[in-house]
Amino acid sequence: MSHDSPLIAILVIGLGLAFILGAVANRLKTSLLVGYLLAGVAVGPFTPGFVADQGLALQLAEIGVILLMFGVGLHFSVKDLMAVRAVAVPGALVQITAATLLGEGLGWLLGLELGAGLVLGLALSVASTVVLLRTLQERRLMNSEAGHIAVGWLVIQNLVTVLALVLLPVVAPLLKNDGSSTATLSQLGFTIALTLGKVAAFVALMLLVGQRVIPAVLHYVAHTGSRELFRLAVLAVALGVAFIASELFGVSFALGAFVAGMVLSESQLSQRAAEETLPLRDAFAVLFFISVGMLFDPTVLVRDPLPLLGTLSVVLIGTPTVAFLILRALGQPLGAALTIAVGLAQIGEFSFILAGLGIGLDLLDGRVRDLILGASILSIFLNPVLFFVVRRLRPWIDQREGSLPSLASRPAAPAAAELPTTELQDHIILVGYGRVGSLVTDGLLEAGWKLLVIEAGDTAVQALRDRGVEVVVGNAADPALLASANLTQARLLLVAIPNAFEAGRIVQQARAANPTIEIIARAHFDTEVTHLSKLGADTVVMGEREIARTMLEHTMDGTARSVDAATIPVSAAG
Ligand code: AMP
Repeated sequence: MSHDSPLIAILVIGLGLAFILGAVANRLKTSLLVGYLLAGVAVGPFTPGFVADQGLALQLAEIGVILLMFGVGLHFSVKDLMAVRAVAVPGALVQITAATLLGEGLGWLLGLELGAGLVLGLALSVASTVVLLRTLQERRLMNSEAGHIAVGWLVIQNLVTVLALVLLPVVAPLLKNDGSSTATLSQLGFTIALTLGKVAAFVALMLLVGQRVIPAVLHYVAHTGSRELFRLAVLAVALGVAFIASELFGVSFALGAFVAGMVLSESQLSQRAAEETLPLRDAFAVLFFISVGMLFDPTVLVRDPLPLLGTLSVVLIGTPTVAFLILRALGQPLGAALTIAVGLAQIGEFSFILAGLGIGLDLLDGRVRDLILGASILSIFLNPVLFFVVRRLRPWIDQREGSLPSLASRPAAPAAAELPTTELQDHIILVGYGRVGSLVTDGLLEAGWKLLVIEAGDTAVQALRDRGVEVVVGNAADPALLASANLTQARLLLVAIPNAFEAGRIVQQARAANPTIEIIARAHFDTEVTHLSKLGADTVVMGEREIARTMLEHTMDGTARSVDAATIPVSAAG
């Protein structure tokens, strides 16, 4: 089968194995990514058994990158991007330069030529978009200040990679120093200007034309009332714009898709568009990790252990340290600086592309590429561990927060996720401050309850704090976060989020921590009611049932009123 239909084979075997190993990883309480990566190694050419088509895997992974970046763009307006440029632009540029220099240093130690060192350095300086975005999404940091900076940072890294990919072929003869150099400085300048010009032309085209045409098309399709057509339109826009960006303007697929999403983000349809691409996005993101796993040759671990350790150190220690210091120097709070720095401590797709180009240009040999690939898979593997360490260090860091140097004088905003355990007792904990939670909050505050809100987004935090409400920002399903709400001494837990999977995890942990606390949860399906009740919720409010009940009530009221009206004699009514 695998020879006749490689696409079907990779989808079936790759996704199947990823599911099984992902489930095992979940059972072992490690990141799902580990399972996906191992599935990739299993179907890769370096392990016995079935070998999937590597070229196909990479193309499928690219679709994952496009959908992911499109989704990020949908939640990101030009205004958001502008708001973080003061940190993201200098931060990313300094970090890339520093990491490239570290890579050059490593290359020198390994006895590489200048050109090879440069490619190695560049490959080690750019983080994987997919990994960073997944991390932000998993930890629900996408809507936080740190999340916005990280996305801005990624955009700059994308641009630098695009430039590097275009410039490397031009400067390669110069770097090789073999007398074949024909590039002149003016040629170099021309290529840079041309590349930047093309990127600018693409962005201008999208802002001037795309911003009008794309929402108009989607609005038209939305009014046809066909969900299927709408879904198709969203996919066509995301993939089409990314393809055009790359084919006509030399912009990376990722950047093209991000801009496509961003021009749609102002439109009210963006939320629906995001929902339509979600299932596909997740499936293709899994394929991305499978494709990374496939590239990995485990023998590099014994063939070249020390150089691999050196390469890994640049990614796991060098980059995050530099990024952290720059972020602190730019006045970012400790929590945000740590989160972004650790998020950048991995490399992925861009590094493979750069390494591939380096080999094509005869700058790099297979050994260095193996080091880059090895560092990539190991860094993606170890990235969640770094996050874990940071969390463990939090109490210690909290204590020292005041004494850590922030070179800029701008007072740093408190990083909400770092809240120590609350001092509140006999309080109500509300999870989710959205359409439901905000109304509940109003009522509780009016009645004079002591309230602590756990909310993933950070848009309403200040307003809540101004009203005297304690807020913890982050995913309430995270045990550390939930513990900081002082569950054991709370009176009531209200879980007002729509996702029953996460709600279930929250309810289960809360019930384990406090057997007597009253738990009220929100659901949208009957099966969710059963699920949440089983896990320990005392009361589960089913949204749709309540809507139906109120509609019926109004109908009955209305009928009663019209019957009444009908029975009132005309003369009396007049
Ligand atoms: P709504 O559906 O409008 O009531 O919004 C739900 C709210 O819950 C949103 O503001 C989300 O950001 C928030 N939310 C969803 N999941 C979680 C979670 N696991 N932890 C904390 N807040 C969450």
